[in-house]
Amino acid sequence: PAEPPADAPVRVRPEIAAMPTYKQGRQADASAHKLSSNENPFEPLPGVLEALAAATEINRYPDATAAALRARLAARYGVDLEAVHVAAGSVSILAQLIAATAGAGDEVLYAWRSFEAYPLLVTVAGATSVTVPVGPDGRHDLAAMAAAVTPRTRVVLVCSPNNPTGPAVRRAEFESFLAALPSDLLVVLDEAYAEFVTDPEAVDGLGPAGYRDRPQVVVLRTFSKAFGLAGLRIGYAIGHPRVLDAARATAIPLSVTAQAERAALASLEMEPALRERVAALVERRDRLVAGLREAGWRVPDAQGNFVWLATGEQTMQVAARFDEAGLIVRPFAGDGVRISVGADESVDSVIRIAASVVEGLP
Ligand code: PMP
Repeated sequence: PAEPPADAPVRVRPEIAAMPTYKQGRQADASAHKLSSNENPFEPLPGVLEALAAATEINRYPDATAAALRARLAARYGVDLEAVHVAAGSVSILAQLIAATAGAGDEVLYAWRSFEAYPLLVTVAGATSVTVPVGPDGRHDLAAMAAAVTPRTRVVLVCSPNNPTGPAVRRAEFESFLAALPSDLLVVLDEAYAEFVTDPEAVDGLGPAGYRDRPQVVVLRTFSKAFGLAGLRIGYAIGHPRVLDAARATAIPLSVTAQAERAALASLEMEPALRERVAALVERRDRLVAGLREAGWRVPDAQGNFVWLATGEQTMQVAARFDEAGLIVRPFAGDGVRISVGADESVDSVIRIAASVVEGLP
């Protein structure tokens, strides 16, 4: 492990000092399209803003258990109140579940490349990341992941659709994967982009053939993407009450604001209108993928609200080309560029720049 910086005024754990900080895409000015954070490009619905404005008691702490929202979600998914957990973004729940199950000497297994927060959260917990590369098609290699489980593995994170590569895990392969795992191993199915999935074979952790009755599986969902509440920080998990109790035990108390809870409740009331927006984004996504493929890019199946270009060593140059055109994308150096599905007019601009770039690639 790297030495902590000599100029640190206090002792920092060396593994923390060596950590890269979470990088956010550059903030956009008015003329640019911010396509770097998989956000929902639509402005909030008026009804959601009204619900927010109604939450005026900011001199009071919020309800620590977010009981109203949990009750609503419990009814929706047909589970007990205790089988629902709400936190300040699904990334908080990931942190809680990892902290609750994995410590020094323990392993957390996930595919790579996947969500950038995974390695950070594992390191903060003091545990060790074990990664299995996604295939050239951007898919999880679940057989290789099952083979990578050791007696020290405490959690497996499965991201479906996978951020940033795009494909969703298939139900059948997920079933075989679960069957191959030790029965007491926690599997977190991270479905932050579930609402955008159109692959009929994709796993749906909360669908009719979901995992409510599998005590080892926790399904993560968020209001950040399809519901457009990224700025309010609110997400949830459905899982076994005892597993979620462990997550609740590690949670920083009172992190979910009353505003976030109210906006989430209002969003659930307005779900049909929000689903229409999701359908529009899915249509844009599919148009984007078709245009990129036509331009000569090999684009993996895109099941979220983003697409992946495997640009390898050219990644930073390609990202700069988009940037110059007012399209802020997310580069992962040496690997690829992730582009979110944004405003309608951004779709054609992305295709145009991508088409001009592909000619310059080896
Ligand atoms: N999981 C995945 C795969 C994500 O891409 C994200 C957001 N980028 C999250 C979880 C976290 O979302 P939030 O904390 O906003 O709910």
